[in-house]
Amino acid sequence: MKIDILAIGAHPDDIELSCAGTLAKEIAHGKQVAILDLTQGELATRGTVEIRAKEAKNAANILGATARYNLNFDDGFFENNKAHQLQLAAYIRLLKPDMVLCNAIEDRHPDHGRAAALVLESCFLSGLQQVKTTHEGQSQDAWRPKQVYHYIQWNDAQPDFVVDISAHIDTKLEAVNAYASQFFNPKISEPETPISSQNFLDSVTYRTANLGRLIGVAHAEGFTAARLLAVDRINDLI
Ligand SMILES: [Zn+2]
Repeated sequence: MKIDILAIGAHPDDIELSCAGTLAKEIAHGKQVAILDLTQGELATRGTVEIRAKEAKNAANILGATARYNLNFDDGFFENNKAHQLQLAAYIRLLKPDMVLCNAIEDRHPDHGRAAALVLESCFLSGLQQVKTTHEGQSQDAWRPKQVYHYIQWNDAQPDFVVDISAHIDTKLEAVNAYASQFFNPKISEPETPISSQNFLDSVTYRTANLGRLIGVAHAEGFTAARLLAVDRINDLI
């Protein structure tokens, strides 16, 4: 199996909120995209693990992802440690992504920054042949993604680059709305949370619209990079 882009999120719905338009665009251009959730989001106030798993599956289908995996780490408590780095490295080696998208380096939810550090370190370790991992009893070859970028979720981080997703905003919103248990839904009588307000749901589009405004398109998603960004030719930038 060979995936072009692996999108990793601490919780099911991180991907949809933050980079689903970019993924939908790449899938429309024929790229193979897989999603890997680190936890089942079991600490969420609303919904259940089972409901969330169904919603995540539907969202992946809406986006056209090749596969969606869940590592079942502890929501809220998983650590950036050797055991988790090796599990993540085994998936990176299995899927061989050229690019990894992951959580913001700093965000409101402490899992997000921890997940970002865990993914960055796992991508590095995955490239070391002396780091041993196995899949279904077979030892795996080293693989290091060429690029790791962080999507923007809760905090208004200053992006290092933005992607025009104007043609894919409807697909992104459809994928976000697949999480009916989590976001604004006047028909649900569960407790209010920071992400269940009308304002939060609206923020998904007012952020993409604002990033779009800054580059002269309708909607865009922003990313940061821990490493200096390089282009081959200067006019690779649009
Ligand atoms: Zn999250």
